[in-house]
Amino acid sequence: MQRKETQPSIPKHRHCNICGISISPDKIYCSKNCEAEYRKMSRRRTYTFILTLLIFPIIMILMLLTARP
Ligand SMILES: [Zn+2]
Repeated sequence: MQRKETQPSIPKHRHCNICGISISPDKIYCSKNCEAEYRKMSRRRTYTFILTLLIFPIIMILMLLTARP
């Protein structure tokens, strides 16, 4: 008897990174709207990261100032 790997027989496809609907494998986003949305999101993530880096020392300084007797 031959052993067969039980693989789900789903045709090659991928999901839109933004809204998650099925799209053809050569695409990353289903539409220009989703691509724009992704760009917006990644930019926002970068800003949040930079903001966190900037805010952290400020919080440290504030803590040092308020910890004074
Ligand atoms: Zn989409």
